[in-house]
Amino acid sequence: MPQANPKLNAFPVFMRVEGEAVAIIGGGEEALAKARLLAQSSAVLRIVSDAASPELLAFIAETGATHVADAYDVAHLADAVMVFAASGNEALDRRVAGDARRLGIPVNAVDRPELCDFFTPALVNRAPVAIAIGTEGAGPVLAQMLRSRIDRMLSPSLGPLAALAASFRGAAEKLLPKGNARRRFWSDFFGGAPARAVEAGQLSEAHDAAVGLLLSNTPESGHVALGNVALVGAGPGAEDLLTLRAHRLLMEADVIVHDALVPEAIVAMGRRDAERLPVGKRKGCHSKSQAEINALLVELGHAGRRVVRLKSGDPLVFGRAGEEMAALRDAGIAYEVVPGVTAAFAAAADFELPLTLRGVSSSMVFTTGHDLKGNSLPDWAKLAISGATVAVYMGRSVAAEVAGRLIEAGLSPDTAVAVVENASLANRRRFHGTLADLPSLEARADLSGPVMTIIGDAVAGANFERSEPLAAHRQESVARAAAVGVNQ
Ligand code: SAH
Repeated sequence: MPQANPKLNAFPVFMRVEGEAVAIIGGGEEALAKARLLAQSSAVLRIVSDAASPELLAFIAETGATHVADAYDVAHLADAVMVFAASGNEALDRRVAGDARRLGIPVNAVDRPELCDFFTPALVNRAPVAIAIGTEGAGPVLAQMLRSRIDRMLSPSLGPLAALAASFRGAAEKLLPKGNARRRFWSDFFGGAPARAVEAGQLSEAHDAAVGLLLSNTPESGHVALGNVALVGAGPGAEDLLTLRAHRLLMEADVIVHDALVPEAIVAMGRRDAERLPVGKRKGCHSKSQAEINALLVELGHAGRRVVRLKSGDPLVFGRAGEEMAALRDAGIAYEVVPGVTAAFAAAADFELPLTLRGVSSSMVFTTGHDLKGNSLPDWAKLAISGATVAVYMGRSVAAEVAGRLIEAGLSPDTAVAVVENASLANRRRFHGTLADLPSLEARADLSGPVMTIIGDAVAGANFERSEPLAAHRQESVARAAAVGVNQ
């Protein structure tokens, strides 16, 4: 088991090396590897070796590093801010490390961790941005794998963008009050026009865009902070089913207004100092009414806040987003919608269930089943009979009603049914059966998470290897009753 709160035995820091001497003792491969790493900085390299390899000599010629072509002497460490014992010879490395330590200079001895004051990281270099990766004892293969993964994630324009940011830092601090205005400037800088221009290689446009942004955010500009509400789908529950856009907006939010179904782990992915407002709706808990939620969003928007209204699954599927959008439109507050993975899709994925299946089902219904109470059959029931795959949201408490009415209307009691509790999450549970088994769902007190029911012939194409039969529960209770009867 991993430790609850593991501690780092080596703490990463960034050390100033500009114009400073860094001594590398050694003439072979180890010395060349360290020299290459250090050459990514503006340190002055001093390479000490009376037997430098041709590759190292070529490197020295190419980079203009200082070459001391003598046998090592402690005097070669003079004024260095860092020392690398990289001779490949244990006795010499020990001597170098001992000398450095006596002189109070931090030392790294290649492949001899016991002699090291510090370790060198695997480096992703987007100067002035640097990402240093340390893996302590886990070894260089892991470090290099992580390095190349991170390298692929980061745009090559990150360096120039960060350099531009550095040149605006002083002006932003002088002209913009600390807090919202400054944060807004920087988030528009890194996420808006300046970043896009740098990405396109247009540095002078980027500079102009940043100036415009700066001026429009100063208190004198009379700029009124306009709030923005994003209706964001959080997906079915698993953190890594959140979209990248949802994640970015969460990182930029001032306020996160979330439903009870959104797991804490996802809400926690928001900006650390964002305000978090839970607005319910879990059965039995006090929660805000829809009208109160609408009013809250409007109020936050008017106050100039960046609001993320976080809803489980997709915000436009049984999420009351229609009412929230209408309220925001009426109040003149800008909003956007970010789609999410809806529960039906997550449940289908958990079951490897094709929602459309060639020759079997070519349409799909999203319903709650709560509209089956009236006398006339809703249109979707007719679709079910003509072969649509039906996903029933919030369907546990109406399972018997749904099954009864569909059978009554002519759907075969043998139609396949798949049920997933907590779709996408580690504690998910899968059940399969037929329409005739579906009513047993209502009586199951052991299902406390959200439940998705999928009905239709396409369900027969699902993988039932990891699911329990729905009927088992029914049979079990029948068997128990029978057993009690026998004993009496
Ligand atoms: N907007 C959401 C639906 C909200 S209605 C979406 O697009 O998914 C709430 C219902 O969604 C629950 O009663 C349940 O039927 C379903 N649901 C949400 N998350 C679920 C999950 N992880 N597993 C199974 N069903 C889920």
